[in-house]
Amino acid sequence: MKDELLFCPLGGSGEIGMNLNLFAYGKPENHKWIIVDIGVTFADDTVPGIDLIYPDPGFIIDKKESLLGIVLTHAHEDHIGAISHIWPDLKCNIYATPFTAALVTEKFKEKKIDIHPFLKIVNLRGNIKLGPFDIELITLTHSILEPNGLKIKTPLGCVLHTGDWKCDPNPLIGDVIDSKKT
Ligand SMILES: [Zn+2]
Repeated sequence: MKDELLFCPLGGSGEIGMNLNLFAYGKPENHKWIIVDIGVTFADDTVPGIDLIYPDPGFIIDKKESLLGIVLTHAHEDHIGAISHIWPDLKCNIYATPFTAALVTEKFKEKKIDIHPFLKIVNLRGNIKLGPFDIELITLTHSILEPNGLKIKTPLGCVLHTGDWKCDPNPLIGDVIDSKKT
């Protein structure tokens, strides 16, 4: 069997909120997985009594032995809001830039979990090497500090995972888009 590269969104693709994306690489019987973002969406009047909604993580919990880590693109709730709810069933490393990591730390404090041994802080424009995935952070502009796209290189090709962004040549906070990145 040949190696393959898979993209499997559990939430967030084609909808607003609760982003939870999976990438896998390897032979079908030996996929290695990464998670990109673990967010929530907010309930409205159609679901009375419910405050937060997040994707069903059962699929990836079943595969946690093959899970290499969680990469967070930025600190909006629809990208990190479910992390302290789902992580206890995964117990893998989390990779985030400093501002996102600070907000994630607070979420785990609320649950009385010391996440520091698992929280790996990555510099802006930094690299994350997770098994067959060689990930580069690409600085974007958005409505929060430290928004990143991900250039995910694998032996089968390169994927650009954009995260959230807008083209703002003059952002009030943060850097301009790293448009020269190839
Ligand atoms: Zn956002």
